[in-house]
Amino acid sequence: MPARTVLIVLANPEPTSFCHALAYTGRTALEAAGHRVVLSDLYAMDFNPVAGRHDFTSVADPDRFHYQSEQAKAAREGTFVEEIRLEQDKVAAADILVAIFPLWWGGPPAILKGWFERVMAYSFAYVDGFRFDSGLFRGRRAMFAVTTGGTPARFSPEGVYGPAADVLMPVRRLAFEYMGYEVSEPFVAYAAPRVAPEAREEYLERFAAQLLDTARLPVAPVQREVHPLDLVPDDAWRKTR
Ligand SMILES: Cc1cc2nc3c(=O)[nH]c(=O)nc-3n(C[C@H](O)[C@H](O)[C@H](O)COP(=O)(O)OP(=O)(O)OC[C@H]3O[C@@H](n4cnc5c(N)ncnc54)[C@H](O)[C@@H]3O)c2cc1C
Repeated sequence: MPARTVLIVLANPEPTSFCHALAYTGRTALEAAGHRVVLSDLYAMDFNPVAGRHDFTSVADPDRFHYQSEQAKAAREGTFVEEIRLEQDKVAAADILVAIFPLWWGGPPAILKGWFERVMAYSFAYVDGFRFDSGLFRGRRAMFAVTTGGTPARFSPEGVYGPAADVLMPVRRLAFEYMGYEVSEPFVAYAAPRVAPEAREEYLERFAAQLLDTARLPVAPVQREVHPLDLVPDDAWRKTR
């Protein structure tokens, strides 16, 4: 099996959480199979999820802050701050991107949402005309694992939350697939704090197996035959609002 580079982005504040157990189990399994794993433990890194002028060492427009305009300039000139640039380097090097998080208010915790907003920047991760099937990361794979408080019954079609696939659609479709990633089925550890210890062990085993299956699938190098920066003449990004 060819060795893959896997970036795991982990968003749970508690080092003994089940999310951490999933991340460590996944990393151990992947490394044992010869893959390279990079872990971004966002809380341990004290990652700042709040977007703003502090994201850049450059200024496109001092009078009006338009985030995508500043991101485009920073991508063109290499003027993202180090916190963002380091994460972008990890993303750029990863064949497979894995996000692990607890479901909080029906979505990822703010720290992970902010990671997407700041790291997956305009002109780095997406650009006009290159989304979904032509997204900049097409050919690469993504997967996410979610822990929930809610039971499978709550996530059934008749349940109060509805199917997990529907709840998680914004992350899958509007983030990963938007950037062109081929997304494996989300792994959901339902009711992680409530189930019996044996059930959690089974979650860990199934998650490791699913990660290894994903790592066996083909990946293609990012196809940047049209480099995103070539598509961004000085004012083009203003049309993206
Ligand atoms: C702000 C907020 C909003 C929320 N919104 C939602 C929501 O919209 N929908 C919903 O369903 N839930 C919701 N929840 C609940 C939340 O999703 C769960 O509390 C969370 O998913 C549990 O996962 P965890 O990783 O934090 O596990 P933890 O609660 O940290 O751990 C669960 C259990 O796993 C055990 N464990 C840890 N490591 C291992 C290991 N190696 N092997 C075996 N067991 C281990 C722990 O000891 C613990 O008993 C919300 C919670 C918060 C705080």
